[in-house]
Amino acid sequence: MAESSEACVSQLSSELAELVQRAQAARALAYAPYSQFLVGAAVRTSDGRVFSGANVENASYGLSVCAERSAVLAAVLAGSRELAAIAVCTELSPPAAPCGMCRQTLAEFSADCPVVLCGPRGLDGEVLVMRLRELLPRAFVPSTLHAFTEALGSQSDTQPVPKSDDQDVQTGR
Ligand SMILES: [Zn+2]
Repeated sequence: MAESSEACVSQLSSELAELVQRAQAARALAYAPYSQFLVGAAVRTSDGRVFSGANVENASYGLSVCAERSAVLAAVLAGSRELAAIAVCTELSPPAAPCGMCRQTLAEFSADCPVVLCGPRGLDGEVLVMRLRELLPRAFVPSTLHAFTEALGSQSDTQPVPKSDDQDVQTGR
């Protein structure tokens, strides 16, 4: 149950509390002239570095990038591909959770990292701690594709190859 993973601020580790503060600071840099919905995010990578991001909108709405993804992209471009935790700070309290696209992006780089959600008041407001698996159960992740390609490799000798007769049918010749 989601309620079981909620935590009050006093239960947050100092690392997660710092992440919330970084997300809150990043939120101030958001570029959201169309939605006015400012979002900041900060990810801690397995090598201990922290990368922040904010949502960046565009007059061509579909080009807008969420805060979570901009933080993940910064981490990847700096050579870090394993997320240890993420904090997201939005306008809302109770805090809003990442959109579906961002959940999928996070799952690419972490199986089940803590996701800390907070409102505009950061640590002074309501803070929720969830797990990525709660937000995106049965995710389609790299290991999903690896399992497929391995299975494909073991069957490579028995893969059906189109016969010339089949090709004739398909092309009508
Ligand atoms: Zn998103």
